Amino acid sequence: MPIEFRREFEFSRFLNPAKDFEESTFPIEFRIDPLTKDMGIVVEFGQSRSEKPDLSRLASESLERGCPFCPEAIEKVTPKFPLDFCPEGRIKLNKAVVFPNAAPYMSCSALTVFGPQHFIGLTEFTEDMLADAFLASQTYLKRVQEHDPEAKYCYITWNYMPPANSSQIHPHLQVAAGHFPLAYHRNLLEAARKYHSQNGTNYSADLVAEEKRLQERYIATLGNTIWLTSFVPRSAQLDILAIFQERESFLFLTPEDIASFCQGLINTFRYMDDTGFYSFNLCFYSGTIGEDSLWTQARLIQRGSLGPLNISDVGYSTLLLDTKLCLRYPEGICHKLKPYFG
Ligand SMILES: [Zn+2]
Repeated sequence: MPIEFRREFEFSRFLNPAKDFEESTFPIEFRIDPLTKDMGIVVEFGQSRSEKPDLSRLASESLERGCPFCPEAIEKVTPKFPLDFCPEGRIKLNKAVVFPNAAPYMSCSALTVFGPQHFIGLTEFTEDMLADAFLASQTYLKRVQEHDPEAKYCYITWNYMPPANSSQIHPHLQVAAGHFPLAYHRNLLEAARKYHSQNGTNYSADLVAEEKRLQERYIATLGNTIWLTSFVPRSAQLDILAIFQERESFLFLTPEDIASFCQGLINTFRYMDDTGFYSFNLCFYSGTIGEDSLWTQARLIQRGSLGPLNISDVGYSTLLLDTKLCLRYPEGICHKLKPYFG
């Protein structure tokens, strides 16, 4: 099996004031991602439990500024698609609504609002609520493909709550497509292509097989989705992967695939809520259609401040040295997540 979960250890020595200045040795684990070669550092410092702020207060304060996604405003203040793209102006599926992003980051850029409810706590999301938003987003992206087949790099992302960079409390997805992949996605696609040419196999298939064999980070299989914790986490406290088997593009996910994914999300949300986590980023990454090198995967990372001073969860190592610092072992998190997946 060509997949290698590479770990390297370094040790830091110091005279420890907590032990009357006896010499202590502190282990530091460096990890290298088997595909992208991203580097991460995993260390556990015995941190305190995360505390959720008063979210109902945050929700009511956010309403005082006015919310463009609430039912009384959404039809009046959100943009509509050009007539040649979408004669009805906005794409709707049950309570989910898709409309153009007024602050676009890519040539095709939309937002999907989950429904009329201004604040939805992590444990209040239902499978239908989630599925409608993802399926409505997929409908938008399929329409983009019909109008601009070259805009083949598509993104479905979710910033949930302010620590994850969400400017609106009202839950919504960012949905976008462009003519070239964004940087990390480009790395994934190129590395998977190289892996396929060297090994003749699909990286995602090999990863799933190896993680199932090792049973260290494999959480569960739900329908067609495989749930893992990431070997090199991109977040300090939680990084989960959902892999859609045999699906090269988000566009190919079936309603059953989406339903399985939403079930896994609900399980993850229950774990997060019990752990004091209340904010996350989510991104779907598609493979390259016809290449059989990478299956579609979704990645969820926890966001939130750390410690009594509420310091940011990212610092110089992540932002300036591209080395992710993780404060909890993915293998331990996997063990804690398993009961939530039955
Ligand atoms: Zn609202």
